[in-house]
Amino acid sequence: MTQDCIFCKIVSGEVPSDKVHEDDEILVFKDIHPQTPVHLLVIPKKHISSLADITEEDYGLLGRMMGRAHLFATKAGSINGFRTIVNTGEVGRQDVYHLHIHVLGGDAPLPPMVYRNS
Ligand code: 5GP
Ligand code: ZN
Repeated sequence: MTQDCIFCKIVSGEVPSDKVHEDDEILVFKDIHPQTPVHLLVIPKKHISSLADITEEDYGLLGRMMGRAHLFATKAGSINGFRTIVNTGEVGRQDVYHLHIHVLGGDAPLPPMVYRNS
């Protein structure tokens, strides 16, 4: 647990979240400000700041997170596909520095790209 990391606090239960999946290494919960009808965040329970901070040790974990995205999207109701996004660093406009995969979907095609409102 890294102090003052909001997602570490969600992992510990200190901050509530709407969880859709939990196992020993991965937590999946609904984004508090959904940008699409289905908007999940897939995070590792251990603190990794960003995709720029992973080591080879994390490749398996990342594979299991990405590999299950389809399962999580389908369970959440996005049955005909979804989009995954990993914002990284300043250029990627990452806001929360605890690695997360956005899983975006719904029952209609998304716009060609997802833009931020701000
Ligand atoms: P980023 O911009 O870092 O890729 O995305 C961070 C995401 O985390 C945003 O979509 C934001 O809505 C979401 N988020 C930030 N704080 C919380 C929170 O306390 N709970 C939940 N469920 N989502 C959060
Ligand atoms: Zn963290």
